[in-house]
Amino acid sequence: MTSDGSLQGLRQRFAGDLVSPDDDDYPDARRVWNGAINRYPRVVARCTGPADVAHAVSFAADADLPVAVRGGGHGVSGGAVVDDGVVIDLGWMDDVRVDPDEQVARVSAGARWGDVDRETQAHGLATPGGVVSDTGVAGLTLGGGFGHLRRTFGLSCDNVRSMDVVTAEGDLVVASADRNPDLFWALRGGGGNFGVVTSFEFDLHPVGPEVATCFVWYDGDEATEVLHAFREWADDAPREANALPFYAYVPAVELFPEDAWDDPAVAVLGAWAGDPDEGVDELRDLRTLADPLADFSDVLPYREFQRLLDEDYPEGRLYYWKSVALAELTDDVVDLLVERGAAAPSTLSTVDLWHLGGAIREGDGAFPKRDAAYLFNVEANWDDPRQTEANVQWVRDTVDAVRELDAAEGMYVNFAGFGEDAARVAYGESYDRLREVNERYDPEGVFSGHTPIHSRD
Ligand SMILES: Cc1cc2nc3c(=O)[nH]c(=O)nc-3n(C[C@H](O)[C@H](O)[C@H](O)COP(=O)(O)OP(=O)(O)OC[C@H]3O[C@@H](n4cnc5c(N)ncnc54)[C@H](O)[C@@H]3O)c2cc1C
Repeated sequence: MTSDGSLQGLRQRFAGDLVSPDDDDYPDARRVWNGAINRYPRVVARCTGPADVAHAVSFAADADLPVAVRGGGHGVSGGAVVDDGVVIDLGWMDDVRVDPDEQVARVSAGARWGDVDRETQAHGLATPGGVVSDTGVAGLTLGGGFGHLRRTFGLSCDNVRSMDVVTAEGDLVVASADRNPDLFWALRGGGGNFGVVTSFEFDLHPVGPEVATCFVWYDGDEATEVLHAFREWADDAPREANALPFYAYVPAVELFPEDAWDDPAVAVLGAWAGDPDEGVDELRDLRTLADPLADFSDVLPYREFQRLLDEDYPEGRLYYWKSVALAELTDDVVDLLVERGAAAPSTLSTVDLWHLGGAIREGDGAFPKRDAAYLFNVEANWDDPRQTEANVQWVRDTVDAVRELDAAEGMYVNFAGFGEDAARVAYGESYDRLREVNERYDPEGVFSGHTPIHSRD
């Protein structure tokens, strides 16, 4: 059967849209958020529901075409699109339904975190998502999910009650603690290696509508002192406190003193997931770690805080992000962070230190290295394609240097460069069990977009 013939057969069964290279909207359909990724799929299957997903999976298997699954299309590694294969695009499946009495939300797998926050906050509820509202729920949750509520309520994947999944065989199954518990375990941290999740059921918690936040910037010359003082504060921080220091460059905008524009800086961004008045008190010390350059700390509507970073991450910019989990924040990690932050080829880049612990330590599922105290993430963000090599090399050199330190103990699969690390490195102590589950649910390796566990070789 020719590929056109197969596609014709799919068209008869498929309720959504099938976009091929000859179609006008193909350039748009194949594009993902990261402008550094440029791939040409044979077809983009814009699905309307689980039945479409099952048809697309079967079509790809019959035609022996590689499959990519696209949730929000924000995967930094670009696993949402594949050359000469089938993109299963869930973007049209984005509804969110909240049951406030049961404190649960049913979220279709193409939704973005902004969709979830909008619907849940209408009831004064939230589930832990990411820190940029445009990011997809699906990819972020399947890889783990760090956000502003992480230490209080755990990772995004820790808050999943159940998932609807289309398997490699095209079957529709439920994964929960009672139904297919091995699949449920694997999908909470094991990425997109086991099937296509078509919807998630999330636990909700009372949050907001206003939260105390901290967003303070210090001179880069004081970065070391600020990070040492931060560490002291963080060692005793209550789990309601979710703070993230990062090395950056002062944006050239009026909000900052003009003589500091483009200079190195260290900023601390954080939220208190609890009573706002208490939060203002508890976060106050973070605002005086040194003499601030600028302080935007405030009590804000939770949804507004969730969108605070959106404009810093436009679609189409060039990105390469890579991470190392840390057992502790040692002096040599701080020194390296400051040294490598100062060496960034692009002033749009940052080196981030996600403070972990709290509820994250109590979750289960495949997400590895739950005891890590911090996640060190190197974000290269740049606009000029001629600078790609320098930016990628800066990240790789930085990560290689951190991995040499005693405190280094793993990585985060959602910040994984272009996905070049072996699955054993990415999934750590969960790898062997993940491989077994993968053998059971996807023995042919149909799903291999996101740090693949199955090797087609
Ligand atoms: C601007 C920005 C901000 C971010 N902020 C955070 C943050 O605060 N915290 C954090 O933890 N991470 C963050 N990330 C990283 C984020 O977790 C990953 O990029 C994640 O992959 C995004 O999910 P997505 O659905 O948009 O991705 P996609 O690119 O659509 O998918 C990524 C991969 O996930 C798998 N996948 C996606 N959907 C499904 C599905 N329904 N079923 C099976 N597999 C699927 C596929 O393998 C796919 O290749 C951020 C990324 C960006 C770009």
